[in-house]
Amino acid sequence: MIHFVGAGPGAPDLITLRGAKLLAEADVILYAGSLVNPALLEGRKPGCQVYNTAPMTLEEVLAVMERAGKNCEVVRFHTGDPSLYGAIREQMDALDRLNIPYDVTPGVSAFSGAAAALHAEYTLPNVSQTVIITRAEGRTPVPEGEKLRDLARHQATMVLFLSAGLLPKVQEELLAGGYPPDTPAAIVYKATWPDEKVFYCTVDSLAETAEKNGVSRTALVTVGRFLEGHYARSRLYDPTFSHGWREAQL
Ligand code: SAH
Repeated sequence: MIHFVGAGPGAPDLITLRGAKLLAEADVILYAGSLVNPALLEGRKPGCQVYNTAPMTLEEVLAVMERAGKNCEVVRFHTGDPSLYGAIREQMDALDRLNIPYDVTPGVSAFSGAAAALHAEYTLPNVSQTVIITRAEGRTPVPEGEKLRDLARHQATMVLFLSAGLLPKVQEELLAGGYPPDTPAAIVYKATWPDEKVFYCTVDSLAETAEKNGVSRTALVTVGRFLEGHYARSRLYDPTFSHGWREAQL
C-alpha cells in the first residue's frame, strides 16, 4: 500500500500523529529531499529503504511504487500538505491505472507555518475574510483569469507559494492590480525550521527586501492588511452577540 503523507512545513514534530505512525511502520520511504526535513527520517524503522525523489522523474518514482507497493508499506512524503503544489494527483491517477491502493494523510501546510511565525490571523473581521493562495507565473503557466494582477483586485489576504525568486514581477503585478504601494507584506523564509526568518516590508518593497536578505527560495510571500493592527473584534466571543452556543449577555 502507498501512503501519501504530508510532512509538514519543516519542524519534524509538525507531522501528524497518523503520519508519524505510518513513517515508523514504513518499509520504503520516498521523500522530496529539497523541502522535506531529513530529520523526520530518524523515525523510520531499521532496514527501511529511503529514496530522495528530488533528482527522480515521475516514471522513476512510479517504478519504485510499483515494485514495492503491492506487498510493502510505502510512505511517499510531500512537504506541507500534499494537496497544494504537491504533484500528487498524477501519482494517484497512475496508481489507479496500476491497481495499487493508496491513501492520503494531510499535513500542516507552509501557509499555516508562516501564519504561526508571523503571530498572524489571515482572516480578520473587517479586514479580510478571504485568503488567496496562489503563485506567480514562472516557467509553470497560470490559467487565464488567475493572473496576479486579476487576483490583486480583491485586495484580500494573499499567500504566494513558489514565488520568492520572481518578486520584481510579483510586485509589479500586485501594484498594477490595485494593492496600494504601502500595503503591508511579509516574506517568511523556512517557516518552522530552526533557521526561520521573517522580513516585514510593503508591497512596493518586496523585491528589494528579498534581494537585500538573499531570499530567493523556500519562502512564502504574504500580503494584506491582516499584518496591521486594526480590525473589528470577533462576534463569536462578543458578549452582546448571541449564537447557537451562547445567549447574549445584555
Ligand atoms: N505542499 C506544500 C507546498 C509545496 S510547493 C505546502 O503545503 O506547504 C513548495 C513551496 O512551498 C516553496 O517554494 C515555498 O514557497 C513554500 N514552502 C514550503 N515550505 C516552506 C517553509 N517552511 N517556509 C516557507 N515557505 C515554504
